[in-house]
Amino acid sequence: MELLQTYLDHLPHYLLSWKLYGVALLCLGLEVLFFVRSRPLFSVELAQDFVFGALNRWLFLPLLFVSAAVYEGLYALVLPPGDWQIARDWPLPAQLLVGFVAADLMVYASHWMLHNVGSLWHVHAMHHSQRNLNPLTTHRTHIVQDIFEEIVHYLPLALLGVGYPTWVGVRAFNWFWAHLIHANVRWNLGPVGRVLVSPQYHRLHHSIDPEHHGRNLAGRLVIWDKMFGTYHPDRETYAETGIPDDSYPLETSAHPAALLKQAARQYLYPLRRIAGERGTARLQRTR
Ligand SMILES: [Zn+2]
Ligand SMILES: [Zn+2]
Repeated sequence: MELLQTYLDHLPHYLLSWKLYGVALLCLGLEVLFFVRSRPLFSVELAQDFVFGALNRWLFLPLLFVSAAVYEGLYALVLPPGDWQIARDWPLPAQLLVGFVAADLMVYASHWMLHNVGSLWHVHAMHHSQRNLNPLTTHRTHIVQDIFEEIVHYLPLALLGVGYPTWVGVRAFNWFWAHLIHANVRWNLGPVGRVLVSPQYHRLHHSIDPEHHGRNLAGRLVIWDKMFGTYHPDRETYAETGIPDDSYPLETSAHPAALLKQAARQYLYPLRRIAGERGTARLQRTR
């Protein structure tokens, strides 16, 4: 299928470009200057997030290729037949603009689902477990979430048939912005923050305070939260972050073996929670 082939052709170039890690260093530099909470720059939590970034990146590729047949079937099932690649001959600025907005709407939609659909929250809870937000927290995601988002976020680019420069442009911007909004920086982007998601805006999304739960779901454009009723107007609070679950297996040691062990325990966390809920439901039914 041409659509899937376009997608798979572009993905490895993107995932394997180590230049993109310069972005994380830039954001860490900003933390030194504009931190929300003073703390050692290289914390245990940052080390754990780095391990997730490395593991997901390398687990992700083989899984994606193995699953290619499944996706192909899925796309064929979901999409009406016909030529969707209407943007193929558009000028680059138009491709970039439409590609960015369409992909960003998908970022919002998939994030909403992670918070509101069935057991997906337990999968996404891993991302929210971070109490010490840092640029690499963008990589603290369950591999299931990574694959789910990969399918959804960039489907419009494949569908519209945009060219390689647009793929690179949209993904590079998203990569940069995802690192920036997780940084421990006191920055709401001023007037720009009314249009684009700022570190303060996304920090509120990570807040442990129930008042903020499920708010500020947008990834880049604030407008989606305003359109779909999930906008939180507070532009000043730099909330404490984390999830209200004391049983979550948070990392305590930066020893490489401990970080790997903890990564495995955190990958298993959603299964433990889902099994726990099923057990409770069964118990209630038999009472
Ligand atoms: Zn979330
Ligand atoms: Zn986040």
